[in-house]
Amino acid sequence: MKKIAFFDTKPYDRESFDRQNGGRYDIRYFETRLTAAALPLADGCDAACAFVNAEIDRAVVTGLVERGIKILAMRCAGYNNVDFKAAYDAGLAVVRVPAYSPYAVAEHAAALLLSLTRHIHRASARTRDFNFSLAGLTGFDLHGKTAGIVGTGKIGRIFAGICAGFGMKVLAYDAFPDPATGLEYVPLDKLLALSDVVSLHCPLLPATSHMINAESLAKAKTGFTLINTSRGGLVDSEALLAALRDGSVGAAGLDVYEEESEWFYEDRSDATRQNKTLSLLVSMPNVIVTSHQAFLTREALANIAQTTLANLDAYFSGGPLDNEICYRCLGVESASNAVCPKRKSGRCL
Ligand code: NAD
Repeated sequence: MKKIAFFDTKPYDRESFDRQNGGRYDIRYFETRLTAAALPLADGCDAACAFVNAEIDRAVVTGLVERGIKILAMRCAGYNNVDFKAAYDAGLAVVRVPAYSPYAVAEHAAALLLSLTRHIHRASARTRDFNFSLAGLTGFDLHGKTAGIVGTGKIGRIFAGICAGFGMKVLAYDAFPDPATGLEYVPLDKLLALSDVVSLHCPLLPATSHMINAESLAKAKTGFTLINTSRGGLVDSEALLAALRDGSVGAAGLDVYEEESEWFYEDRSDATRQNKTLSLLVSMPNVIVTSHQAFLTREALANIAQTTLANLDAYFSGGPLDNEICYRCLGVESASNAVCPKRKSGRCL
């Protein structure tokens, strides 16, 4: 039986993978993240499975391949944390779960938005203390306002539909606009200038890193609400904090944070050393931070386990690997002009 070294395990991962596995693989669950120091845990295994905040750098890639592991199954959609050139050089196949529930993420973006516009987080804290005052809880109607969707892929399109359902006007920006969406595409600057709500749904790439920064914030509509369920690195957190303080950003709902890997997914309430910017952001009444949980629905967890195990089945049976990505595949910013053979052979490597 093939053995899988499964890193960064949480109880909900184990539950969904055990349910889907049905005894196919010997899954060795480890709580630690996949790092160079954790590599010995993968001794004797045939595959490694990692999650969104693992740092898959050249040392980790080399260490996996030295242990005879030729496939890394990422159980997430984003892949900004993988050194694809190193993986290609070492002959390590990388598969992912491109879509597990775009609804889960889009609905979480909507939850953040509604909580902020109607101060639900503050109201809930008050009523727990038997404080039933409404002072300071005046919100605003979403109906008739403008939503700017940055990135109109699977999640962005669903969120655009949710906003349209609220009666909002929807504007969109994408580096690769798709006329089939029926959305009104405008340049990013125009979207920022006109939108009351801006929601980010594009991947983190060199081209999108800090796309929301002091300069772009200065062009945005005063008092707009920013929602980020995509990747923390899209937003310059210092610039966002300054804009929240001077009122140029009215509110922010953040499921991701650029230095989240040090903090998210664990109970850090006893930490004496804290991240200053994150501490200031979480303390603001007009900011909601969630711990990269937009994916966390029963449906998404079942799909993640099913697709990850299907990816491994395809790899070990020698079949085509639909969900493999490599540095040559389109969409990976570091790609050279070399053409990926996947279309012809079914595999990148
Ligand atoms: P997708 O690939 O379907 O869509 C991404 C869109 O971004 C595409 O339309 C693409 O053309 C566009 N894009 C690419 N480069 C761009 C650029 N430079 N500027 C503007 N747009 C650009 O991806 P998806 O499934 O909709 O996921 C979107 C993002 O959501 C992922 O990249 C991931 O980072 C994030 N995500 C977060 C969670 C979570 O739990 N918070 C879960 C899943 C995905």
